[in-house]
Amino acid sequence: VAACLARIEGTEPALKAILHLDAEAALAAAKALDDAGPVAGQRLWGVPVLVKDAICVKDAPTTCGSKILQNFTPFYDAVCIEKLKAAGAIILGKTNMDEFAMGSSTENSAYAITANPWDTAKVPGGSSGGSAAAVAADQCFAALGTDTGGSIRQPAAFCGTVGIKPTYGRVSRYGLVAYGSSLDQIGPLTRTADDAAAVLSVIAGHDPRDSTSAPREVPDFEAALAGAVDLAGLTIGLPDEYWGEGVDDEVRQACAAAVDTAKSLGATVVPVSLPHTPYAVATYYIVAMAEASSNLARFDGVRYGYRAPEAQTLEELYELSRSTGFGPEVQRRIVIGTYVLSAGYYDAYYRKAAQVRRLIRQDFLTAFEKCDVICGPTSPFAAFPIGQMTDDPLQMYLSDIFTISLNLAGLPGLSMPVGLGQTSGMPIGMQLFGPAFDEAAILRTAKVLG
Ligand code: GLN
Repeated sequence: VAACLARIEGTEPALKAILHLDAEAALAAAKALDDAGPVAGQRLWGVPVLVKDAICVKDAPTTCGSKILQNFTPFYDAVCIEKLKAAGAIILGKTNMDEFAMGSSTENSAYAITANPWDTAKVPGGSSGGSAAAVAADQCFAALGTDTGGSIRQPAAFCGTVGIKPTYGRVSRYGLVAYGSSLDQIGPLTRTADDAAAVLSVIAGHDPRDSTSAPREVPDFEAALAGAVDLAGLTIGLPDEYWGEGVDDEVRQACAAAVDTAKSLGATVVPVSLPHTPYAVATYYIVAMAEASSNLARFDGVRYGYRAPEAQTLEELYELSRSTGFGPEVQRRIVIGTYVLSAGYYDAYYRKAAQVRRLIRQDFLTAFEKCDVICGPTSPFAAFPIGQMTDDPLQMYLSDIFTISLNLAGLPGLSMPVGLGQTSGMPIGMQLFGPAFDEAAILRTAKVLG
């Protein structure tokens, strides 16, 4: 813990990955562990962890990167935090993020712009950019992120870390500030697949407090990875739609080299198709914004966070609190989300998106009849310069093309580093998708390839 705190002190001025640090509490927790000695079964005993600011940690500010939650301090731990603490992990603090997890660069945070540790003029990705930068800069050994449409995997790719979005329902969302409830999942960002397996084993599991949590046994992911040395017997599907036009050469080269390595380690490669990929961005942004507009209705200036002091009437209280408290991207999404759900437009947009969503899921199920894992680039390009896309939200949405289908399908996916781009010199991430609840398959593949 002391070493991580020293590292944080040295790197934070340049990175701004952390929104809230509680060094004293972390040192006290570490000392208590030292005094008591290791306890059998505490799998993360003394491991320093940072947490995305969308996840409630008791008595620590939880802003979700938004001014509207500026003074919100939860009085309870999210279930994943309860589990981390019970496993002996030490929570160091909270990491920066796009406001309400809406974004792909962490530039939508109301508080700070986080820099990519590999090149501080570039973005760390988003929305869990603070968590990815923190892991890449050795500020902690693991960080929690959340992934609604790529927010764990894309920043992991941009910062050269491992990041896994578990199957929908695998990790309880109790205590997570909701963005798109049918898409959101919490997962770890770490340096290695083994570390991701260790953290996932702790935070996964059925939880009666989250009605969408899956009543499934959690395999011992660490044990599932032990002794994995080759990929004999594994069939990897390569979707045409992920390897063609629109992908930077350096990204395709780095990912193709990793696939070659997989072949030399015994894997068989087959072509597969995910034919509804071209509709994924439109479908995702309708579903996610619709759910967000509903979830964000609770921020009314009365119950939590920012309350406009100048309001005279109740109407004004809502209007002023929300228009001052929410940033421009969040307001844009509330307006679009409300529109696609409104009478007269629901059938044309939301219902249609729900139908296409089912087709996208079916694409994956059909592809998994031919292979065990699916593989492709995480992002069409490596980390881009800070400011490059801030004036062009549509361009930013389009950049999510390879990550969002998986959330619509509810399946698990992982991004792993596959080297540095030949042109940019920045980390390149490759994605592995697995069938529902088979996180072990993608973790094992990532470990052997890593
Ligand atoms: N970039 C996507 C969005 O802005 C995904 C974000 C996420 O996964 N939270 O919605």
